[in-house]
Amino acid sequence: MTDCESISISRKLQDKIAIVTGGASGIGEATARLFVEHGARAVVIADIQDETGQTVAESIGLDQCSYVHCDISNEEQVQAMADWVVRKYGQLDIMFRNAGTVSSSNQRILNLDFSEFDRVIQVNMRGMAVCVKHAARKMVEQKVRGAIVCTASVAATIGGLNHTDYTMSKHAVLGLVKSASQQLGVHGIRVNCVSPSSVLTPLTRKAGLVSAEDVEKLIGPLTSLKGVALTARHVAEAVLFLASEDSAFVTGHNLVVDGGLISLPSLNT
Ligand code: NAD
Repeated sequence: MTDCESISISRKLQDKIAIVTGGASGIGEATARLFVEHGARAVVIADIQDETGQTVAESIGLDQCSYVHCDISNEEQVQAMADWVVRKYGQLDIMFRNAGTVSSSNQRILNLDFSEFDRVIQVNMRGMAVCVKHAARKMVEQKVRGAIVCTASVAATIGGLNHTDYTMSKHAVLGLVKSASQQLGVHGIRVNCVSPSSVLTPLTRKAGLVSAEDVEKLIGPLTSLKGVALTARHVAEAVLFLASEDSAFVTGHNLVVDGGLISLPSLNT
C-alpha cells in the first residue's frame, strides 16, 4: 500500500455521530466535510441559513450528512435538535459547537451599542453553554464517552481592538471549557476548544476583513509562520484531532491555530 492510500483510508471518526453547529459556512462547513471524510456515520449540520445549509449537506452527501434548522441561542430548539439526532441515529458522540456571530459595526467601549452587544453575547456565549449542556446530557444519559469541541478565537486570549463584545464572548468560551471539562471528566466526556486567528469567511467579512489581502495585512505581520495563510481546513484538522481518539487524554485544552500569533513577544509585553 502506498502512503497516499494509507492516508486516504485513515478514518478517525469511524461510525461516529456528530453535530456541527454553524456548519452551513466557513470553519463549520470545512469540519463537516472532514468529519465525513474520516468515516463519521452521520454529521448533522445545525444552522439558521436553511438554504445554504441544505445545499452543503447535499454536496457532502445526504447518506452521511443532514441539515437541521437550529438557532443555537434558543434552548428549546437546541434540545429538540439533540433529541432528534439521538432518535434518528441512536447516539451522539461529538458536538462541534462552532456557530458564532460578530457585529458589523465597531463595538469599541466608548460607543458600545447594547442591542448589538446582547445579540453577540446571546449567540456566542449563551449559545455555547446551551449546546454544551444538551450535548453533554445526551452523552451522560447514554454513557457515551463523547467529545465536545468549541470554537473560541485568538480573541479569547488577546484583546480585540474593535469588537469588545466578541472578545468578551470568546474569553467566556475558555471559562466554559475549563469548567465543563472538570465537571464532565467523570463521565469520560472531553471538552476542548480551538482558537483560530483569521480565516476569510462571511463572519470576517462582516467584521470588515473583506479580502485575503485585508486578512494578510492585519494578520501577516503578527504571524510567525510566513508564507502560509490560515484556511478553514487547517482549523478543521485541529477540530478533528480534538474530536477523535487521537486526543483521548486531552481535556480542558485550548488548541490555538494561529501560526504563532499569540506567542509574538509584542503581544505579551
Ligand atoms: P461563518 O460566517 O462562515 O460561519 C458561521 C456560521 O454560524 C454561519 O453558517 C451562520 O449561519 C451560523 N450561525 C450564526 N448564528 C447562528 C445561530 N444563532 N444559530 C445557529 N447558527 C448560527 O464564520 P466562521 O468564520 O466559519 O465562524 C465560525 C466560528 O469560528 C465562529 O464561532 C467564529 O467566532 C469563530 N472564529 C472565526 C475566525 C475567522 O477568522 N473566520 C477566527 C476565530 C474564530
